Amino acid sequence: KRTLVWFRRDLRLHDHLALAKALEQGPVAAIFTVSDDMRKREASCWWLHHSLFSLQKALHEQGVTLLLSDENPTSVLPKLVKTYLINQVVWNDSYTTDERKEEVALKKVLEEAGISYEACYGDVLFPQHELTKDNGDPYSIFTPFYKRSQKETVKRPVALQEDWQSIQVDALKSLDELKLLPERDWYKKFEAYWTPGEQAGIEQFKQFADDDIADYKKMRDFPDADGTSRISPYLTWGNLSVRAVYYAASRREHAEPYLRQLVWREFARRQLMQHPTLETKPLRTEFNEFPWRDSQSDFDKWKRGETGYPLVDAGMKQLWETGWMHNRVRMVAASFLTKHLLLPWQWGADWFKETLVDYDEANNAMGWQWVAGTGIDSAPYFRIFNPETQLEKFDSNGEYVHEFTKDQDVAPIVDHKEARARALAAYERIKK
Ligand code: FAD
Repeated sequence: KRTLVWFRRDLRLHDHLALAKALEQGPVAAIFTVSDDMRKREASCWWLHHSLFSLQKALHEQGVTLLLSDENPTSVLPKLVKTYLINQVVWNDSYTTDERKEEVALKKVLEEAGISYEACYGDVLFPQHELTKDNGDPYSIFTPFYKRSQKETVKRPVALQEDWQSIQVDALKSLDELKLLPERDWYKKFEAYWTPGEQAGIEQFKQFADDDIADYKKMRDFPDADGTSRISPYLTWGNLSVRAVYYAASRREHAEPYLRQLVWREFARRQLMQHPTLETKPLRTEFNEFPWRDSQSDFDKWKRGETGYPLVDAGMKQLWETGWMHNRVRMVAASFLTKHLLLPWQWGADWFKETLVDYDEANNAMGWQWVAGTGIDSAPYFRIFNPETQLEKFDSNGEYVHEFTKDQDVAPIVDHKEARARALAAYERIKK
């Protein structure tokens, strides 16, 4: 059988279920399609551009051309099937809202055209129908979901066979013609911090697993320490397979706290599937009436890292400088925006969407709704991080703050006590 492999959030060759299946059955061709939705995320597009470059190279070494297109998959895929006498299309599932819609539309078109296809489970640890409650309902609270996940084992990664046959195709667009690199060149700074692509991702994870995984629990909350794995952008575009990461980590000692975070990622995907508007609409509907403020100037100060709260400012500057922010600081900065400044969590989610190299719809939406207390898991609205106490606890010697703010001198734009009281009063209004 001649197979077209549609690459999506799986820009790698290891543990690639769809590609493994295709190779077993005969010659393959490969394509990646860029959507308008992907283009809205500047930092993530920079990562995508470089991931495609590496993947093109890796496939080329096996004699396969990675076709690139910005046409809708529903039009370009059937055309290729016809031109190159292809028998089937295969891909790995993606879990973003738009890409799920894209997949549904494609299945319909392929069915109507009588073209066979297979969607493999991708970008998750377990297939969708697994890890539900006994009555089949999905979990909405993390802890029971986590406990349930611990009764299952993640499958061993699949290996690709060595002999490849390829279908000879004519290139569509070149990588440069796709114009994925953002117009403003702020992304150039990222090159100093990151090397996108499969090989770099594997090395990054291996180093963490060899040197740091056992200390993860102790070190993960200190933004100055290199205590976390920093593989999130590699997972976003599937340069690393989350299953392969979990499988490898589970063979190390003292890895449970790390594995638990990978299950949070899985939980986020389940939440997004259940609530496709997770990134824009609060789960608890009373928050539609919440008296959010509308201050563009406070929002700009937050974005620029000029709130006068050193940990928040350092985080926002780290984001702008490197395209990434430490998880502890994401929580503090997000809490500051939604509680201290009382600005809508969706504004913050949008800013992260534009600037994070690891932007991931499910994790971002869950992270913001969790911090804002608008309905994810059991996180309550009235938990308000104190940015000064957080600084004392997690950056007591000020090294992280110094690195990113160079100890800038800005007066606090709000008083902590007053802001806290204002946030709690606003919450009382929707509770009634
Ligand atoms: P590690 O601590 O090494 O964890 C390993 C992996 O586990 C991560 O790469 C990630 O895939 C997963 N993980 C860890 N923590 C979480 C978590 N809390 N929720 C879900 N998955 C987790 N993560 C993103 O990947 N993309 C986002 O757009 C994103 N937006 C966020 C927004 C807010 C407001 C908050 C509070 C968190 C957000 N996160 C997001 C989750 C988390 O901050 C990052 O996954 C983490 O900082 C990535 O760094 P790491 O790879 O070193 O993580």
